[in-house]
Amino acid sequence: TISMLALDEAGDLYGGCTTSGAAWKLHGRVGDSPIIGAGLFLDNDVGAAAATGLGEAVIRTAGSAMVVELMRQGKTPMEACKEIVERIYNKHKNHKDMEYLQVGFIAINKVGDYAGYSVRPGFNYAICDDEKGNRMESALSKM
Ligand code: ASP
Repeated sequence: TISMLALDEAGDLYGGCTTSGAAWKLHGRVGDSPIIGAGLFLDNDVGAAAATGLGEAVIRTAGSAMVVELMRQGKTPMEACKEIVERIYNKHKNHKDMEYLQVGFIAINKVGDYAGYSVRPGFNYAICDDEKGNRMESALSKM
């Protein structure tokens, strides 16, 4: 999945995502990326969030919508991403799919604070802003 979130000079948010879906997916499977609220969500009054990883886990938690909702309630992008990753982790920790579970979120709020957080290490994301230019950052992770 490739997701992009942007905040412009006027303070407006933008988001988009695309995916090839999961490896070995069943014919007709719909992942999280084309479902607004799951793989992507944006509220121009609050912030934006997007997901990568096991789409079924993201859909079941309405993951990106929940990250934005937590930011609406005052959480930072990091706190919001972490809370939803932990919710997903806790729902899966005793299941056999935990062996391969990876889900990560990126989020940005109206003032340009941003974060990434994932279940497992290895989730990197790119940032570009006027202050520091282009760079890669590693998301913090639960495991
Ligand atoms: N989220 C995608 C899906 O489940 C997979 C991915 O992130 O690569 O369809």
